Amino acid sequence: VTSASDRVLGIDVGGTAIKIAVVWSDGHVARADEIPTLADAGPEQAVGRILDCGRKLLDTEGVRRDELRVVGMDSAGIVDLANGLVLDAPNLRSWECFPLAARLGDALGVPVFLENDVNAMTYAEWQLGAGTGARHLVCLTLGTGVGGGLVLDGRLYRGARHAGGELGHMTLQRDGPRCPCGSTGCLERYIGTAAIVERTRRHLERDERPSRLRETPAEALTPRAVSEAAAAGDAIARGVLEETGRWLGVGLASLANIFDPERIIIGGGVAKAGDLLLEPARAMLRERAMKVPAERVLVVPAALGNQASVAGAALLALGRVQG
Ligand SMILES: [Zn+2]
Repeated sequence: VTSASDRVLGIDVGGTAIKIAVVWSDGHVARADEIPTLADAGPEQAVGRILDCGRKLLDTEGVRRDELRVVGMDSAGIVDLANGLVLDAPNLRSWECFPLAARLGDALGVPVFLENDVNAMTYAEWQLGAGTGARHLVCLTLGTGVGGGLVLDGRLYRGARHAGGELGHMTLQRDGPRCPCGSTGCLERYIGTAAIVERTRRHLERDERPSRLRETPAEALTPRAVSEAAAAGDAIARGVLEETGRWLGVGLASLANIFDPERIIIGGGVAKAGDLLLEPARAMLRERAMKVPAERVLVVPAALGNQASVAGAALLALGRVQG
């Protein structure tokens, strides 16, 4: 039996940073810190640093070692839930099949449960964020990669081998651009970071209207810069978001037809552009999806920000020790 005062350690392993947090059993992130992943240096070097950071957070939060019940960890890539292993992660190649969860669990003396990062985020949004009260949810996160998560009939849906929900790799065009997943023309190739940057360059080349993005150095031309420019009224930036939103909507129409969700939650950095991205996506969804699923589905921005995954991983782990 847990109480509202129970604390869980959450660990979110990403390609560039590892977020570590003390999370309450209601999902509140009480205290969080971040360390660099150093992905290319392999996982071994990270074990001690994660433990140091985690222990410091627990101490600062006043959680005694014997009060910690469980650790919830999440990682990019396809994970083996039963064995706590990352099986396939393009941004963490040398971490695949390393027993990070077991190593941390041995050191801390509590079980460590591993979950896919977007599933963890989806779970948090469902329990605490933009998905509360729904039984059928689709979640998409837009970043370097485009991740997906599903809540179907009131349960997080993972597929037969926990490899499901890779919504960013739904094919939009058979002969489209090559994708790191091995296929071509995936949704990610049209709405991921690289696609948005490339689209921005194209728009700047063929459209001569003034734009603050022309003065932006190449390495600073990011989806965030585009969103900020668009929010400030930059016409070219708005055009880029509109085109990106339409591609997003093409994907959402298929997702609406397949899953008939109540809500579709859009997260990730570029989702902060809000309606400048989402309105064209909604319009495209209504235009292309079948009438009944298109009628009621709400397309909404994620509500929890970048601590959603670590909170979700903690809550899922707590659920597993509670049975
Ligand atoms: Zn792909």
